Order: sequence, then structure tokens, then C-alpha cells
Amino acid sequence: MSNFTPGPPKAKKPAPTVYCFICGRQFGSKSIEIHIPQCLKKWHIENNKLPKSQRRPEPVKPEIIKTGETIDVEATNEAMWQSSQANLVKCEWCGRSFGPDRLAVHHRSCTKENPAKRVGGK
Ligand SMILES: [Zn+2]
Ligand SMILES: [Zn+2]
Repeated sequence: MSNFTPGPPKAKKPAPTVYCFICGRQFGSKSIEIHIPQCLKKWHIENNKLPKSQRRPEPVKPEIIKTGETIDVEATNEAMWQSSQANLVKCEWCGRSFGPDRLAVHHRSCTKENPAKRVGGK
């Protein structure tokens, strides 16, 4: 016979997720703190690899949006997402937008001589 007693019931709230304002990916509110410095570092490495004409100013963290005293999580997330979209780089050969880290990968198959075809287009 087992005397095992389960702990107190845990609240089953979904983990709050926030957008990284640099890469636009979603993270838990705790892991975002760890992620952002890493993401920014990576961003600088990738940005420095770009031709001068395509380099962008460092992404600025959008302000936290508040309604009165409380943080408007949704509006803030929206602002983070918008900010990350502004960080995308346009491929000079096919015109699609990519995150700077993905652009490097993309450029392996998309070149001036042989631009990638648009997916899903006519
Ligand atoms: Zn990120
Ligand atoms: Zn391309």
C-alpha cells in the first residue's frame, strides 16, 4: 500500500510567452531574459556579415505598453513582434524577407545568377 501523497494541485495556466523583439520568436517570460542578450549578440555577428548597404541599426526594445498601472501584455507583445519584423532583411536576389541568420542560409541556394523561385506563387 502506498502512502504517496501528491503535492498541492498546481495551477495549470499556460506559460506566458513573449516575442523576442529581435528575431520574433516566442519565449517564456523567463527564458526571454536569457535569450535576448544571446539573440542580440548573434544579431551583431550576422549584421556585420551583411554588405554595408544592408546593415541595419541595432534593434531597439519597444516600450512596455501599460493600461493605467497594469502592463498590457498583448499590446506589448504586438509591439515586440512589429519591431522584430522591421529587423528582417530583404534578399537582394529574390526580394523575400528573412531574419538575418536565415538569410545567410538562404543565400546558399539563392544567388544573383540563380535566384530562388517564390514559393506558392504563380
Ligand atoms: Zn531573438
Ligand atoms: Zn533570395
